[in-house]
Amino acid sequence: MMADLAIINGTVVVPGGDPTPMDIAVTDGKIIGLDDPGWVNDAGQTIDAKGLHVFPGAIDPHIHLGGYQPLETDTGPGTRLAALGGVTTIVNYFKATGSYLELVPEYIETYQRWSHVDAAFHLQLLTEPHLVELEETTRRFGITSYKINLAWKGREKAVFDSDRPVDNGWVWSVMEAMKEIAPDIMVLNVHCENQELKNEARRRIADEMSPDLEFYERLAPDFSETDSVLSMMLLARVTSVRTYLVHLSSRLSMEALELPWAQNKRLFGETCPHYLMHTVDSTAGLEATVSPPVRHQEDQDALWEALADGRLSTVGSDSNPILRDAKMGDGEFWSVKPGFDGVGMIVPSLIDGGYHRRGLGLGRIAEIMAEAPAKIFGLYPDKGTIAPGSDADLVLVDLEKESTVGPEATAEHSDFSIFAGMTLRGWPVATISRGDLIAQDGQVLSEPGRGKYIPRAV
Ligand SMILES: [Zn+2]
Repeated sequence: MMADLAIINGTVVVPGGDPTPMDIAVTDGKIIGLDDPGWVNDAGQTIDAKGLHVFPGAIDPHIHLGGYQPLETDTGPGTRLAALGGVTTIVNYFKATGSYLELVPEYIETYQRWSHVDAAFHLQLLTEPHLVELEETTRRFGITSYKINLAWKGREKAVFDSDRPVDNGWVWSVMEAMKEIAPDIMVLNVHCENQELKNEARRRIADEMSPDLEFYERLAPDFSETDSVLSMMLLARVTSVRTYLVHLSSRLSMEALELPWAQNKRLFGETCPHYLMHTVDSTAGLEATVSPPVRHQEDQDALWEALADGRLSTVGSDSNPILRDAKMGDGEFWSVKPGFDGVGMIVPSLIDGGYHRRGLGLGRIAEIMAEAPAKIFGLYPDKGTIAPGSDADLVLVDLEKESTVGPEATAEHSDFSIFAGMTLRGWPVATISRGDLIAQDGQVLSEPGRGKYIPRAV
């Protein structure tokens, strides 16, 4: 068997399957086959994966490159960290009040100029014109996933000068539009937080202010999240629109996902490395403020259980790169901004916290980090699996490698990491994107500008 590239002597983890010793052959950036060790006997380049597990490249379905800082500032560093963390595809959020028909070509051009890995885009819907242009935006750019952030409620005018209230009526109208355009393909991503309950929480406890994560968590209580989760479960059921609940954080929401309405093949849940690895007791302190907040140990345990049993489908980093000074505001508690950089922490979090500490199976981890986000967001089977015909996007993982996260966990687009100082077991040691070895042993080998924008089929 001849190939451009052979990955030999590794243990291959196909999503949902048992880890199996196999060699993988790659030609023209695509996997052309995988079979018993030794079957590829003539390859231009050979990578020896002895002692390593070969997973499909991770897909980070939730990143905000260009969130706080310009896209051209974030894309190079963010996608380098992705490559180092075994992430070969990201799905990046964009938020603007202008016409996406004008903006998306600029996003694509800037992203492709600086990126190391491939990307699809999600767009936040903020204004009535965004809804009017939804079909054209979808078809012209192959963008099939959109987001509504329910926590903007009441701030529509101030933040993005919109007269359209961000409420369940807005969600419903967008869902009905999606049904008309491509009901089996489009996905509505919802940030679930009932802002009315958060406002009341703040009114009730503001005078108990203490500048720590415990108090920060009480400002956005678990039931403010679960209230919106229940509403979205209902709307997903009555519309049959594919509905994706981003960054779920609480035990209460995991209980909601046990209800009969959650037995809906078109309803999906995501959580994030920070909820899986941090609680209000985190030594990261206010650096770890995020919306929704990191919560308590019982919440973290419930999220891991839900990943194991399938109530949760994916893990997204919700990375939102920002410099520490900008995040901490004027030093006063109320001025601290939510979010932080966490690109590349999905794989080490799943291996350390999931596989080693909770017995989460490797085949299940491959589903969570690759297959599920690929299927939900229309990237499968080019992305998300290890099979003939798929892109040769692979990550080689050393399950036993122990490493303490250092300052290199962020790049120049941020200068702190809430994971710094954590010693995790199980790290990516090589990353392959479309047949190119783009990162190995902590070094990025690719040049900016090789990552591609992925228009999705409508
Ligand atoms: Zn986010």
